[in-house]
Amino acid sequence: MTVLLQTQALDAYYGDFQALFGIDFEIRQGETVAVIGANGAGKSTFLKTITGLIKGPSDAIRFQGKGIGGIAPGKIVSMGVAMVPEGRRLFPSLTVEENLLMGGYTRRPGRWTLETIYELFPILRERRHNPGTALSGGQQQMVAIGRALMSNPALLICDEISLGLAPIIVKEIYNTLEQIREDGLSIIVVEQDVSTARQVSNRLYCFQEGRVSLQGASSALSLDDISKAYFGI
Ligand code: ATP
Repeated sequence: MTVLLQTQALDAYYGDFQALFGIDFEIRQGETVAVIGANGAGKSTFLKTITGLIKGPSDAIRFQGKGIGGIAPGKIVSMGVAMVPEGRRLFPSLTVEENLLMGGYTRRPGRWTLETIYELFPILRERRHNPGTALSGGQQQMVAIGRALMSNPALLICDEISLGLAPIIVKEIYNTLEQIREDGLSIIVVEQDVSTARQVSNRLYCFQEGRVSLQGASSALSLDDISKAYFGI
């Protein structure tokens, strides 16, 4: 499998404060990789760095073989990296359909259109003229995922998608992501729920105080190993 995105010895700073220390990370085509860690471990900083919101040195982040550190976030989306942000962040004054169309602002060619998103999440077709914010939490999460898919990404990054949702809805959403992954998309999931993270991913990275404290094939890591790495015991 081809490596899609890779970071090597990636550091990140807020002013003088160093938040990430030498992160070596990779995701291959068609993989789901989970990133876990306690509050403040550096997960959001990592996502912001790979999506261009925090500037990193060019060669420390490579996407499809090209250095992307320091490139503007919009350009990174057009190269094929899309984000489902924490808290969904739908545009409150727009309908479901308008929210989805916003995601297609920088579209690459590919299978995702309004029609295929509605096939993936039929409830969104029924609700397409409703304001996005009038939907249930799970349906809003579907809109946020659909909006990200509208750009036809090669890499989908999902930040804490299970937050505030009932377990059954979380399961449904991850089952859908699994179907999409089987079509060749690569997915990074940042998860608070360690057990979910382990179940839905092929590989897992645990961050602790800005460093990778554990990584490996999710099925090969015990919950005990993961808890130790998570809490830094
Ligand atoms: P959470 O689960 O709470 O979102 P996280 O793992 O995503 O945590 P980060 O938000 O990446 O962690 O934070 C990593 C470190 O960087 C923490 O020490 C945090 O206090 C610091 N930090 C985060 N954002 C800023 C900022 N804008 N300015 C200064 N320091 C920051």
